[in-house]
Amino acid sequence: MRDPRGIMRAIAHALGLDERRCAHCLAPFSPGGVNTDAAFPLCPSCAEALSPYGGPRCRLCALPLHETNTEGAGHTDCPDCHGTFRPWQGIACYGLYEGALRDAILRLKFDGETAQAPFLAACLLEAAACLPRPDAVVPMPLHPSRLRERGFNQVHEMTRRLCSVTGLHAEPALLSRTKVGIPQEKLSADERARNLQDSFAASARASGLALWLVDDVMTTGSTLSAACEALRKAGATAVHVLLAARTPLAASEK
Ligand SMILES: [Zn+2]
Ligand SMILES: [Zn+2]
Repeated sequence: MRDPRGIMRAIAHALGLDERRCAHCLAPFSPGGVNTDAAFPLCPSCAEALSPYGGPRCRLCALPLHETNTEGAGHTDCPDCHGTFRPWQGIACYGLYEGALRDAILRLKFDGETAQAPFLAACLLEAAACLPRPDAVVPMPLHPSRLRERGFNQVHEMTRRLCSVTGLHAEPALLSRTKVGIPQEKLSADERARNLQDSFAASARASGLALWLVDDVMTTGSTLSAACEALRKAGATAVHVLLAARTPLAASEK
C-alpha cells in the first residue's frame, strides 16, 4: 500500500499547491528533492549554481589555491599571504565572487533587492560552521554619507538575518567608518593602505569580546585588515572574518 502522505504530496504537486519561490531567481518551482529546506529554498538550477566553493583555499585569506598554486593543496598560504601578517584569527567564506553568487550580492547592494538577504545570510551561516561562536557579530560599516545615499547597509541586512536565525548578538555600533575614502578598486596597493589610514573607529565596548566581522566580498583584504585592526586596538580578544564571497583571481589583488 502506498504511503498516504506520499499520495497527498502527489495530489498537492498535481494541483500546484506545493509551489514555492526560489530565494535567488524568484521564479516559482516545485520542490523536487533538491534543497527543499524551508529556510533556504532554491530552485534546482540555482541550487547547483550557488553551491559553496569546496576546493582548497589559503588559510589566511580564503583565496582559492588552484588559481595561484596547484601544489600544497589543503591548508596552506597563497603567495600573497606568504610571510604577510593578517590581523584576524581566522576566516570563513561561502563561495567565489562570480556567477550567481556575485549576482545575488550585487542585486542586494545596488538594486536594494532585500529578498537576497536571507539567502546570503544562509550562505554566511553555512560558511561559519568552522568558526568558534563569538560574543557578538559586527557588520562591515558604511560611512554615514554612503549609508544616506544607499538607504541601507547590505552587510548589516545579511548580519541581522544571520543573527535572528542563530540567536547570535549583532553589534553594528562597535565599529564605525570615519572617512569616506575613494573606492578601493581604483587604487594601487600603496594608495589603498593610505586611503584606509584611520578610516575606522571601534567602540571601547569591543574590549574583551571575541567577534565575527562580516563582509559581503573580500578582494585584497585591505579594508577588512583596517577594520579588524581597529577592533583589536579597542581590545577585542579575537576577530574572525566571515564572508559571503571571495574574488577568485590573484590578479584582482594587484
Ligand atoms: Zn532559482
Ligand atoms: Zn592568502
